[in-house]
Amino acid sequence: MPVRISAQPAFAWADFRITLAARLRAKGRGQTTQAGTDSESQGFAGRELLGEAVARLRNGRWLVVVVALAVLAGAIVIAGRIASGQAADNLRDTALAALPLAAGTLTGEIEKQRLVPLVLARDDAVRGALRRAGKMQEAALNDKLKAIAGDASASAIYVIDTAGIAISASNAGEPASFVGIDYNFRHYFQEAMANGAASQYGLGTISGRPGLYLASRVDDGGKPLGVTVLKVELDRVEANWRSSGFLVFVTDERGVVLATSQPDWRFHALAPLSPSDAAAAHDQLQLADAAFEPLPLRRGAGDGLATIDSAGKLRQFVEVVQDLPGAVPGWRLWLLTPADAALSSAANTARLTTLLGLLLTGLLAYVLTRRRRTRRLRQEALARMNAELESRVSTRTAELTRSNNALAGEIAERENAEAKVRRLRDDLAQANRLSILGQIAAGVAHEINQPVAAIRTYAENAGRFLDSGKTEPASGNLTSIVSMTERIGAITSTLRTFARRPGTAASPLPVREAIDGALSLLSGRIRDSGVTIVKPRGNVSPAVMASRIRLEQILVNLLQNALDAMKDQPDPRIEIELAERDDRVLISVRDNGPGLGPEAAGNLFMPFQTTKEKGLGLGLVISQEIAQELGGTLRLDPGSASAPGSASGASFTIDLRRIE
Ligand code: ADP
Repeated sequence: MPVRISAQPAFAWADFRITLAARLRAKGRGQTTQAGTDSESQGFAGRELLGEAVARLRNGRWLVVVVALAVLAGAIVIAGRIASGQAADNLRDTALAALPLAAGTLTGEIEKQRLVPLVLARDDAVRGALRRAGKMQEAALNDKLKAIAGDASASAIYVIDTAGIAISASNAGEPASFVGIDYNFRHYFQEAMANGAASQYGLGTISGRPGLYLASRVDDGGKPLGVTVLKVELDRVEANWRSSGFLVFVTDERGVVLATSQPDWRFHALAPLSPSDAAAAHDQLQLADAAFEPLPLRRGAGDGLATIDSAGKLRQFVEVVQDLPGAVPGWRLWLLTPADAALSSAANTARLTTLLGLLLTGLLAYVLTRRRRTRRLRQEALARMNAELESRVSTRTAELTRSNNALAGEIAERENAEAKVRRLRDDLAQANRLSILGQIAAGVAHEINQPVAAIRTYAENAGRFLDSGKTEPASGNLTSIVSMTERIGAITSTLRTFARRPGTAASPLPVREAIDGALSLLSGRIRDSGVTIVKPRGNVSPAVMASRIRLEQILVNLLQNALDAMKDQPDPRIEIELAERDDRVLISVRDNGPGLGPEAAGNLFMPFQTTKEKGLGLGLVISQEIAQELGGTLRLDPGSASAPGSASGASFTIDLRRIE
């Protein structure tokens, strides 16, 4: 049966790897040799095929690498876009938060100044001066206007009469005094005269500086007397915007930049103006030579990002815009915040994170794939080894089965031989028993003769007693006859039992019973020989596990030998002793005969060693055999072997295991 070998924990992995490496090397060598042989035999065509296969493999790998790189690049680009989009949103939030502040700065400034011309239009001094328009110097009013302009931080305040000539100004007496200047052409003058109030952004005709003109008509009981004007230059507002870090500017309804934190953008347009718009702007702003060039600002398509081209360098901004209804109609406030640093930093961080994440994922995938591959290779190698081992084991198993069968044959033969030996031994034991039987038969015959003769006498006498009517003595004779027949019966039954071939069944046997049985078998011979028998002292009778006939056979053998040895010897004596030592029972048969010489003692248990004329030399051999069969031994006691004739006697001991 094939034996399955599984991977044992004790399996040395290092050994396995070495073996595997050696195998792979061997395999590699084999392949090389094989390839070499093939290429030699198949020539150029073989090499070409091989080259094509390698190229295909490489191509396949390159394709994988290219796809992986493309995915990596795509993921990095997308991550960058998403991150910069988020950064732009954040910037937009910041810009939207800053927008009201920037608007407030401007509208606050304008609203503060707007009241001044309105109040002045109701001022009596102004009205008085206008009524006197151009007829005298208005030094007091000039001073008053100067003081108000100073308090209101206005760049100039002046009063224009209905003809458009400035009759009084906060800067009167200064080189750039407005007094006497004709402002009839100014829109703010014309509008204020027509509508009561006006505002206009433009360059000062004298100062050339930009500013917002706020004008209010001066009425005198429904009749216009002139216009009060305040020019506010928005420098502080622009400076405030600049300091906020944002790029802030205001455009009019045509997209022309007015107030701005970037002064060189002033009077540039968000987009190129159409000729009609340009003409309208010229007219509105009253700028003779303004070209309204477009700003270096490119606005994104809906992504809220604007790009500013400053000297060829493109910078990105997030742009937010709001109307300024509170300031001047049509004005819009723009706020741009630099986005380059934030966007690129966010994009770079996202790209780097994505790159690292993907690289780590790739590395992890690579390691896992490698590990899975290594595990698969190991399992394959293990499976190969298992298969090899299994095949070896099955080969070996087949060999073992063959040799087992051969062994079984030998065992059967040996058992046959042993059975034969056993049968032979049984036959020999039977022969020995019959020989003993022959010897004791004479004694038995003698033993039986006496009671038979006595029975005859008792029977004859009983007949006579009956004839003479004496029934009582006759009955006594018959009783004696019965007891004698019982004795004969006992003798013959013992003989019969002994002669029968014994079974092997053993049972618990009190040793004294066997001793008594043996003595009873030999009782006639013992009595005739005049041997004194000394039976074991005391009445303890240990038991052994034995067949009674077997044990009796040993004892009869020993007693017969003792009787034979002491024939013709004065005062013969046999002592039977019974002793217990630990779990052993020792039965000794000792005589005071001639004993055994050293040579006889050495050959004692050899078959057919006899000194007797009619002896077989089998008694002791068979007795020893029986003792061993009963799980014990039979031995000649030390001291029994001495110089012949020294009358030391012989002693044999049967050693058996005691049972409780
Ligand atoms: P056999 O009685 O047929 O000779 P045994 O095997 O019983 O065969 O005895 C072998 C020999 O051992 C005897 O012939 C005898 O010489 C010697 N022998 C046995 N018992 C005694 C004894 N008690 N005293 C002296 N010699 C003995």
